[in-house]
Amino acid sequence: MSSHVLENFLKENLEDLKGKGLYNEIDTLESANGPVIKINGKELINLSSNNYLGLATDKRLIEACNEATKTYGVGAGAVRTINGTLKVHIELEEKLAKFKHTEAAIAYQSGFNCNMAAISAVMDKNDAILSDELNHASIIDGCRLSKAKIIRFNHSDMDDLRAKAKEATESGLYNKVMVITDGVFSMDGDIAKLPEIVKIAEEFDLITYVDDAHGSGVLGKGAGTVKHFGLSDKVDFQIGTLSKAIGVVGGYVAGKQDLIDWLKVRSRPFLFSTSLTPGAAAACIEAIDILSNSTELQEKLWENADYLKQGLKDIGFDIGNSETPITPVIIGDEVKTQKFSKRLNEEGVYAKSIVFPTVPRGTGRVRNMPTAAHTKEMLDQAISTYKKVGKELGII
Ligand code: PMP
Repeated sequence: MSSHVLENFLKENLEDLKGKGLYNEIDTLESANGPVIKINGKELINLSSNNYLGLATDKRLIEACNEATKTYGVGAGAVRTINGTLKVHIELEEKLAKFKHTEAAIAYQSGFNCNMAAISAVMDKNDAILSDELNHASIIDGCRLSKAKIIRFNHSDMDDLRAKAKEATESGLYNKVMVITDGVFSMDGDIAKLPEIVKIAEEFDLITYVDDAHGSGVLGKGAGTVKHFGLSDKVDFQIGTLSKAIGVVGGYVAGKQDLIDWLKVRSRPFLFSTSLTPGAAAACIEAIDILSNSTELQEKLWENADYLKQGLKDIGFDIGNSETPITPVIIGDEVKTQKFSKRLNEEGVYAKSIVFPTVPRGTGRVRNMPTAAHTKEMLDQAISTYKKVGKELGII
């Protein structure tokens, strides 16, 4: 017999969400998550994936995945510290360190997992974390798990960060103080002010932690936001995901050898959760090799992003202040934003609406993620669909 308390809790809360229109219906893809996707038998131009470079369907990665699967099987069979460390995991970590210009790296099963692992392995209840108010959910949860005092600073507000860093370090209340930020903020596409953050960190001896999920493979000739600013030796934790530009799945920390050695003995998802599948690890190695040897895909990504941004701007949309391929089309009103996204979908363009509470009230937007795999024809079609729907809803 199931619990009545649980049944009532679920019923009430699900009904409440559905009543408020906040229950997220999840779409099922009948195709790969490429530049064109198929949902309910209908093909749509896809502007919602994080498959920035199109590597998720790249034949070279598929081949590498298949080969490793034949050699090692589909599963790693154990956690890393028992006997789930395979040669492909070590090779991946060596490649990641080289790619990120650090002494060493450690791989996790996802980017989310990585933040849960890394923050709490180093920070505890006697410490404080200065966290940008727009940091990703996995950073927020990782901070909470550590039990450190969380001090939020206003988004990319360096005066606020400096004042809070001064107060925290001079209070004498904390053993260690960390500053933590996304490298690229995923809702607006703006880049963290890393040179200033590093300067403040040097002044107050803060530990620096940058989650570059959306910058890796995109900025710094692929090496990410930290490299983009030439700060590879000044950031303690460089976090990345293997699921976006790299096109596979997994996460990692790149940093000094001692840090990685410590994470290998103290970070709980590394110790207690089965390692990345061999096929995924091998596909990631292939992706890093591709990115290390050529910037062709990044160039294509930026070319496509600039094209889409200019096209949307030219027809009168507000595309915010993105500094990266992330292209928000800011509509404002939540209901209108959702309607806009639905109409785009009906017209053959898949671009998700993002509204409160993910972004502040009144700043609803349709977020577009152009990739290297889109053709100009696809982008032209998307832009003309935007024009049609924008006129229809009185936005342009
Ligand atoms: N950090 C940031 C900043 C992200 O945007 C994401 C992905 N949404 C993650 C971590 C989680 O990465 P993954 O999907 O690999 O778990």
